[in-house]
Amino acid sequence: MLSAVPMCSSDDLLSSRPAPLPRFRQLVTFALATIVALPALAVGSFLNVVASRVPLRRSISTGRSACMSCSHEIAAYDNIPLVSWVLLRSRCRHCAASIPWRYPLVELVTAVLVVASFLRFGPTLEALLASFFCVVLVAVSAIDIEHRIVPNRIVLPAAVICLVGQTALDPRPEWVLAALGASGFLLVAALVYPGGMGMGDVKLAFLLGAMLGWTATVALMIGFLAALLPAVMLWLRYGSKARKIAIPFAPFLALGAIVALFAGGTILDAYLGFFG
Ligand SMILES: [Zn+2]
Repeated sequence: MLSAVPMCSSDDLLSSRPAPLPRFRQLVTFALATIVALPALAVGSFLNVVASRVPLRRSISTGRSACMSCSHEIAAYDNIPLVSWVLLRSRCRHCAASIPWRYPLVELVTAVLVVASFLRFGPTLEALLASFFCVVLVAVSAIDIEHRIVPNRIVLPAAVICLVGQTALDPRPEWVLAALGASGFLLVAALVYPGGMGMGDVKLAFLLGAMLGWTATVALMIGFLAALLPAVMLWLRYGSKARKIAIPFAPFLALGAIVALFAGGTILDAYLGFFG
């Protein structure tokens, strides 16, 4: 079957470059994803410090970690991500106050998302920016769940970094337009239904648009749908009184953003294909 041999002119041979090395790239990606796992756990541990201190306007760079209950300084060997929580059986070594499961959870989720970013985007600057985006979302979610605020001090600088980063990596107006569109949409929602969300969520939507571009629509859609579930459950349980119970919205937006980051293109294509 000679016809199966591709025809190849001498021009093609001269201009042919070394074939890409997908297998090598896979290897590098996998190695990198493994290497970043431990620093990512450490970043998760740092996020716990951020989540405890930023809402209190305390410095995150000075002062050692201390038990929230007895103020005893936490020794380095009791401050190992995940491991210490398990070894100490989730209790302070000194006063036996329980250490909230938020701590190991933030560490684990951060590490998983950073590793996933490198597996998804390979050894690229996109992977680095995606990791940063995930780290910010984890911090903002942890703070919103515990303190019911979406801190400007985190969201605004992160939005600038993502907007500049995405525009530099892929110079298109998509990023700034999506940022304005997503935040505009939430601004309208916040004005129509003031109890539902705050200005913090509007700024968070700006960050989502800046990083996700058009797939921010997927993030918002999933975020709203996911937030509907606890809202309905509260309503079933408390009836009209449920209106007064505030649900932190940022974690749902963050969830939508994570799904959009890793699968937004696929979901958007499927959705447009279905209706288009
Ligand atoms: Zn203690």
